[in-house]
Formats: sequence, structure tokens, C-alpha cells
Amino acid sequence: MSTWPQQLGVLIKRAAEDILGSQKTIALTGAGISVESGIPDFRSAQGLWSRYDPEEYAHISAFRSNPAKVWRMLKEMMELVMSAEPNPAHFALAELEQMGLLSSVITQNVDGLHQRAGSKEVIEFHGSNQWLICLECGYRQEATSLSLEEVPPRCPNCGFILKPDVVFFGEPIPWEAQSKAYEGARTCKLVLVIGTSAVVYPAAEIPIVAKRNGAKVVEINMEPTTLTGSVSDYLLQGAAGKILPKIVEEVKERIS
Ligand code: NAD
Ligand code: ZN
Repeated sequence: MSTWPQQLGVLIKRAAEDILGSQKTIALTGAGISVESGIPDFRSAQGLWSRYDPEEYAHISAFRSNPAKVWRMLKEMMELVMSAEPNPAHFALAELEQMGLLSSVITQNVDGLHQRAGSKEVIEFHGSNQWLICLECGYRQEATSLSLEEVPPRCPNCGFILKPDVVFFGEPIPWEAQSKAYEGARTCKLVLVIGTSAVVYPAAEIPIVAKRNGAKVVEINMEPTTLTGSVSDYLLQGAAGKILPKIVEEVKERIS
């Protein structure tokens, strides 16, 4: 059930108390948490995704049939990610983990910003931009060695165009990430769902599995989502980079 509209300040205090009262809390993050770092999400009206339809460019069949075309989008995405810095929302989650109040972050993002903010237990549900792989022969190399002038990069073994080790639409979730994420969802008492529209499956199932196992679901998002008012207990509506640091402040006040 939704408690909206309630004042945001009241809900921030409620979230802090829920975190302190929970034996195990996890976070599920989506592209929205990195918007304040300058990386656009899929729903933004302008930017990268108005020029490259994700359904077209981020589908594995598009990569297989025309990898050079998909690399035009990947190059722009990589340029954005390489110049992005973690924002206060990433740092707030890292701080909660350090305080022993967050067991893991399951992220759908491939930008590595949680790790750069200091989070240790990060489950990358959709892979990562850090590696390049060859779909033909299995060769892997670190993406940091890639110069953006050399795109599309080619496999030194077989000459095929390399693919970032991220999960494209139509590809399976890496087995280990999936099993850890579901384990977290089944055993947590609280899940913070941050900056995700919760329409990309199976990631969107994580809060549903948590709820079914008795966990509270708290959303932080600029807008209501398909979870709001049904799966989530309440929504803190606004920018994650503003709301999460406030929650951490409230938590600290209560334990100091
Ligand atoms: P999405 O684009 O579908 O949804 C983003 C959500 O974030 C929206 O509900 C929006 O209202 C919300 N949002 C936007 N700005 C916000 C802010 N400042 N604070 C709080 N919420 C905010 O993203 P998704 O649900 O993650 O699904 C898209 C897929 O594309 C995922 O697999 C995602 O990983 C991938 N993707 C990743 C990146 C990245 O790595 N940074 C960027 C774009 C897309
Ligand atoms: Zn190869």
C-alpha cells in the first residue's frame, strides 16, 4: 500500500528507522542512480538514448549482425562513463555498508560507480564495462587498455569485433550474479529500490521476491513506477543524490 502523499521529510525518517530495525538490508539500483553523475537513463527525453533506441542498439542480435554500428553507441556510452564520478547517492550506500547496515548492492548498471564510491559487496546483475570479450573464441581483455580511437576493437586471436562484457537484451544474466542476487532477495528484511523503472526482467523480480519472503520494499525514484503502491511499501519521490544522504544523516543521529 502506498502512503503517498506524505511529506518527504517524514518518509526519510521512516526509512532511517526501517534501516535500523532491519536485520538485513540490500539495495537494488538502476540507471537513475547514475543520472546525477551525468550518465543518462533510458527514460530521459534527451541525450544518448534519444539518438540510439536501446531496444535496437542494446540487443544482442543487433551486435551479432552489425557490431560496428552498435560500437558507435558503445563509444559514446564509454566516453560518458569514463568521465563520470560517483555522486552523493553512491557514497551514501557505501557509507551504509561501512556502518554494517547494508549487506549488498545489486546493480543493473555497468558503470562501476558503486565500487568507485567504496561499496565492496556489489553484484553486477548486467555485467560490467570493465571487460571486453570475444563472442567467437572466448578471449577476454580489460577495457582500460582500450583507446577510444581504436573502436571497434578486434580480437587479437580471431579478428572478430570484441563486445563489452555487459548483458545485452536477449542475453542471459551471469549465473553467479543471479544466484547471489536471489539469495539476497530471499533472505533480506528490507530492500531499497533506487532509480530503476523496474520494467527490465529478471532484475525487476528482485523486489517482488523480497516482498513475497516478508521483506519491506522502499523505493527512491523521481517518479512512481510499476512497483509503487503495490509491491513497494512507500516511495520517497525525488533525486537519489539528495534523498540517500539525508537518510544516512538520520541514521547517524539515531545511533550517535
Ligand atoms: P531506466 O532508465 O528504465 O529507469 C531509470 C529510473 O530512474 C526511472 O524510473 C527514473 O524515474 C529514475 N530516475 C532518474 N533520475 C533519477 C534520480 N536522480 N534519482 C532517482 N531516480 C531517478 O533504468 P533501469 O531501470 O536501470 O533499466 C534500464 C537498463 O539499462 C538497465 O539494465 C540499466 O543497467 C541499463 N543502463 C545502465 C546505465 C548505467 O550503467 N549507468 C545507463 C543507462 C541504462
Ligand atoms: Zn576471438
